[in-house]
Amino acid sequence: MASDKQVRFIIVGGGIAGVTCAEQIASQFPSDEVYLLTASPLVKTVTNFKQVSKTLEEFDIEEQPSRVLEEKYPYLKVVQSAVKLLRAKEHLLQAENGQTFHYKKVCLCSGGRPKLLIQDKPHVLGIRDTDSAQEFQKRLSKAKRIVVIGNGGIALELVYEVEGCEVIWAIKDKAIGNTFFDAGAAQFLIPSLEAEKKDRSLPCKRSRYTTDKTGGYSGTSGELGSALGPDWHEGIELKGAEQSSSGVHIEYECEVDEIFTQQEFLQSKLRTKKSELGMWPAYVQLTNGKVYGCDFVVSATGVVPNTDPFLHGNNFELAADHGLRVDDHMRTSEQDVYAAGDVCTAGWKPSALWQQMRLWTQARQMGWYAARCMAADVLEEPIELDFCFELFSHITKFFNYKASGFARQV
Ligand code: FAD
Repeated sequence: MASDKQVRFIIVGGGIAGVTCAEQIASQFPSDEVYLLTASPLVKTVTNFKQVSKTLEEFDIEEQPSRVLEEKYPYLKVVQSAVKLLRAKEHLLQAENGQTFHYKKVCLCSGGRPKLLIQDKPHVLGIRDTDSAQEFQKRLSKAKRIVVIGNGGIALELVYEVEGCEVIWAIKDKAIGNTFFDAGAAQFLIPSLEAEKKDRSLPCKRSRYTTDKTGGYSGTSGELGSALGPDWHEGIELKGAEQSSSGVHIEYECEVDEIFTQQEFLQSKLRTKKSELGMWPAYVQLTNGKVYGCDFVVSATGVVPNTDPFLHGNNFELAADHGLRVDDHMRTSEQDVYAAGDVCTAGWKPSALWQQMRLWTQARQMGWYAARCMAADVLEEPIELDFCFELFSHITKFFNYKASGFARQV
């Protein structure tokens, strides 16, 4: 059904940044039709928001059907369709379902996708949305050994949760979790990796992530769901093929040199005693010279901003990490196009105590602030960079220990 719509505000993306932005605009302009265009059938909503201190906040995230938002804001319309085309100069946005929107202001909140070490290798998996988490679970259930690459939040959570499967964890740093905590805290956490699962169950009190009671998102492959968050594995049994509990072996200060399929490995000229490594579906050669056979590799090495649908025919300035560069009003280099969340990169000179990290908290803060900037620009009112960008702070949980942190001065 093709149709043209004139709208003042349109937001792209049903993740935390997009939903927060849409809710804020809808509450500031309660009689304006606001459109939220999203590729995923469920939207992420922030609930139980608590301001713990001036900069620390705690909240729950729920994945809900879009009607929940529409019931709360009568003039907020959620359209489940991906953006096909953006013509920024003409202020025109076209959705896959044929609808065309002529907007005054648009905010792009399309998130990121896993930065895979190697593209198109059947034995390399990334974890991003419910679909990929389920694929991981399926493969894990038959696996005896996996190799996990990366030292961020996803890798930390994963190595701790996996049972019944040996984990080789390769990190490029001297200590685990160094983007979140110092080497002393890392040493404190290491024994938790060896503890039996039953001994680990401390009460967990922190931001929770829940999915819609209907069973959550189950898009067809190729559809892009929202990024998961803490507790993404809740309700998914992360159990390998072995009866005994898992062992985690950490390889420090190394990266992946090469990943081979079994056939490639056998034909390779590697000077390793191949027969000693056993027969595995895949082999990983690390930069420290070691080679491990495994069932598959989890590439948990961050995300790439999901900018592809918007670049063609437009003139966006991109940052070094390929995010849409935004100024201190969350404006991209294209007029009336704003961006927030994982898709964007802060282009202003940051305070010494703030750094961008692609996390829930910042997606929410950016979505909220982008909406306030769009509103201020429409109303021709001044607006200053929000205080939340003065000091980086985050509450989360590592190995079942609640942790809150602030930025270190760099
Ligand atoms: P997303 O949540 O990715 O939402 C993007 C939205 O855009 C989706 O709705 C998608 O369908 C839509 N979209 C994409 N392309 C199009 C298009 N062309 N047209 C229309 N819509 C489109 N953060 C933490 O703070 N703590 C954690 O413990 C944590 N754990 C994580 C664990 C995992 C496994 C992952 C993947 C991420 C984790 N994160 C965590 C990061 C956090 O989830 C993200 O930073 C945050 O969700 C980003 O929100 P966003 O709204 O920018 O993007």
